[in-house]
Amino acid sequence: MKRHVRADPSSGRDGGAALPASFDIRCTACPRLAQFLADVRDAHPTYHARPVAPFGNALGGLLVVGLAPGMHGANRTGRPFTGDYAGILLYRTLHRFGFASHNGSDDPGDGLELNGCRVTNAVKCLPPQNKPEPAEVRRCNGFLVAELATEKPRAVLALGGVAHRAVLMAFGCAIGAYPFKHRAAYDLPAVAGLPDCPRLFNSYHCSRYNTQTKRLTAAMFEAVFADIKAFLQSSR
Ligand code: SF4
Repeated sequence: MKRHVRADPSSGRDGGAALPASFDIRCTACPRLAQFLADVRDAHPTYHARPVAPFGNALGGLLVVGLAPGMHGANRTGRPFTGDYAGILLYRTLHRFGFASHNGSDDPGDGLELNGCRVTNAVKCLPPQNKPEPAEVRRCNGFLVAELATEKPRAVLALGGVAHRAVLMAFGCAIGAYPFKHRAAYDLPAVAGLPDCPRLFNSYHCSRYNTQTKRLTAAMFEAVFADIKAFLQSSR
């Protein structure tokens, strides 16, 4: 099978420093984000306010990719989707479909365990206004590539367009060939060093805005997870 050759996103070609070889909570490769986090630490001394490490192990199962830590959620607690509104629907749905031990989403000390699932973000640092710059998404993509290579998920769920494009970037795919659409699913190409042809699933992000405006309902989100569960069970 023909394998794509992917450009190295960790080269620092966008003006930032090169990435560490693997995820590092001390990473400051994006100067704008590093400065922003320093300011957040001054304003909120009890907040994590560092790059947020992924949570769980996909182990050939599911990798959930969000956008970036939320100010008072993961950026505060240090665990993805923990402590803010977006995590409530995500972890409740993960639990419902057998990927999480319980509904926990408030506190990293809640004993929550993920089963064949990992939750991460396209950008590991809190960005101002929740909007990372394209260069920051590209730079942090090196960490996403490393996760994909070690976790080898068979299913990848992108929550929103930024996460969707970050996954496509990791696989060296042309964005236009894989348009983001809620409940779309795409088989990704084989890429040297990455898991063989996982399936990429799309969902609107489970943000407070999307759920309160009914852009994403619990039923719509569960339908995506039903697709994922059926795929994982059929591709064993
Ligand atoms: S966004 Fe990613 S690459 Fe940039 S500083 Fe944070 S962890 Fe490092």
